[in-house]
Amino acid sequence: MNLTFLGTSCMVPTKDRAQTAIVLEHKGELLLFDSGENVQRQFQLADLKPTRIGKIFLTHWHGDHVLGLPGLLQTLSSQEYSDVLLIFGPPGIKEKINVMMGVFDFDNRLKIEIHEVKNGRIYENSEYEIYAAPLKHRVPCLAYSFVLKDRLRIDLKKASILGLKPGPVMGKLQKGHPVKFKGREIKPEETTYVVKGKKITFVFDTLPVKEAISIAKGSDLLITEAVYTSELEEKAHEHKHLTAKQAALIAKESKSKQLILTHLSPRYKDKTTLLKEAKIVFPKTQLAKDFMKIKI
Ligand SMILES: [Zn+2]
Ligand SMILES: [Zn+2]
Repeated sequence: MNLTFLGTSCMVPTKDRAQTAIVLEHKGELLLFDSGENVQRQFQLADLKPTRIGKIFLTHWHGDHVLGLPGLLQTLSSQEYSDVLLIFGPPGIKEKINVMMGVFDFDNRLKIEIHEVKNGRIYENSEYEIYAAPLKHRVPCLAYSFVLKDRLRIDLKKASILGLKPGPVMGKLQKGHPVKFKGREIKPEETTYVVKGKKITFVFDTLPVKEAISIAKGSDLLITEAVYTSELEEKAHEHKHLTAKQAALIAKESKSKQLILTHLSPRYKDKTTLLKEAKIVFPKTQLAKDFMKIKI
């Protein structure tokens, strides 16, 4: 899986940073988390095709997270995107999206399914699950976790001892089903091993609430906003955002393995001030930048 940061600024785009948008690539499908202004151009620059988007997850309806949405949907519509596009977001987004689609004069051929979600597992297929949790921001806001399920892999050595060759029988075992082979039953455990899944959690924008820690529990990668340093903790509280230290505490308390800070404020010319503060609490922290790619 590949994770690409398309936008890492908060509030306004800057010369170097677009507004929040992150793309997760999983087996050819793109999952888009937030859709800040100019997201389409960021897609182009990152060499990613928006027509591969399968699902969009919106954290909340603030401009710096959704201003890229109308343009993106218009383009998908004009490119005859044939799938049903799933959009997930907090309560209220159905109306917002419908109003937004209504104010632009274009021939909408896009099939969209909007899911207003609140909490718990909001999506599942054979490969992965998506969880949501309510955060505390100025408007309804959600955190999301992408959880790749554990997978079975064939142990080729063990399989060849049993005389198995790549093909449908192996395929069945890999899916966890027993098979009949040369007169006896082979159980999946005899020829397979488990590859542990992965968990990636997205937390923006919010006050430091316990729900953020719960949803992030055991994440391989946690991505959070960090708008302020602790010096401006009061301001962070007033605007319902995290400080770098609070973000690091969420990473520590959730026992996440790695933290990336994004949604960075133009207020800090030198963003390493935020990084230094977080690293004191959680050393495995790094700063996001536009077009940064992470292999997971
Ligand atoms: Zn924001
Ligand atoms: Zn916001």
